[in-house]
Amino acid sequence: MRKKIVAGNWKMNLTLDEGVKLASEVREFVKNNPLEQLPGKPGVVMFTPAIHLDRVTQTLHNTKGVQTGAQNCHTQEKGAFTGEVSVGMIRSAGAGYVLVGHSERRAQFDETNEVLAEKVNIILKHNLTPMYCCGEVLEERDEGKLFDVIKEQIEKGLFWLSKEEFTKIVIAYEPVWAIGTGVTASPEQAQEMHAYIRQLVEEKYDAETAENTTILYGGSCNAKNAKELFANKDVDGGLIGGASLKAEDFCTIIQSY
Ligand code: PEP
Repeated sequence: MRKKIVAGNWKMNLTLDEGVKLASEVREFVKNNPLEQLPGKPGVVMFTPAIHLDRVTQTLHNTKGVQTGAQNCHTQEKGAFTGEVSVGMIRSAGAGYVLVGHSERRAQFDETNEVLAEKVNIILKHNLTPMYCCGEVLEERDEGKLFDVIKEQIEKGLFWLSKEEFTKIVIAYEPVWAIGTGVTASPEQAQEMHAYIRQLVEEKYDAETAENTTILYGGSCNAKNAKELFANKDVDGGLIGGASLKAEDFCTIIQSY
């Protein structure tokens, strides 16, 4: 059975103390509500700012099923890239995941599918899990191009992987028009795209690989609407932005599976 995941993307929010406090609250919640005893047995990932990774990972030490992740990485192992963070550094801080291709990075930092493919490559090389984001902007949806856009993002970013490599990937479908806007995709819209992505994976690899691929929904998912979104058969959890910054909301979402 494929893995269910609830992930929080803190973006550029929270001081170190605030981040540690949030992680401690999630740790206490998980201690009292072991993830393997929740119906969906979800894993939890907290994508913190890179500078918080070490302390937050230590804070979550021995919290079964909860891992940390970085929001970005560089394509190269090391060198003269002032201000950048390598996958080796992320790994040495104890993180298990790296987010790749969040729409904010695609739009604000000009990250192309080709660059993202390089990031996926180096993340896998270091045995970390890439969480690969894809999503269409509103104009593309309105013009009926949404499936073509997602297909291109997935084909160029991921479909050069061998089947074995692909089984290590997590996908997050995040319609850009829903991110941080308070406008959520309807459960039907989310299910439709998730089923489409799964079909693409089946056509490229095989039915078993498609069945085992974790596909998360992201975009104004919150404590109120998570249950309805996660109830869809091809939605395997969520990538949560704003609502991951408050322990109470994030923990409610974790329980929505
Ligand atoms: C995100 O940043 O990945 C995200 C889904 O944000 P929000 O939940 O705030 O829309």
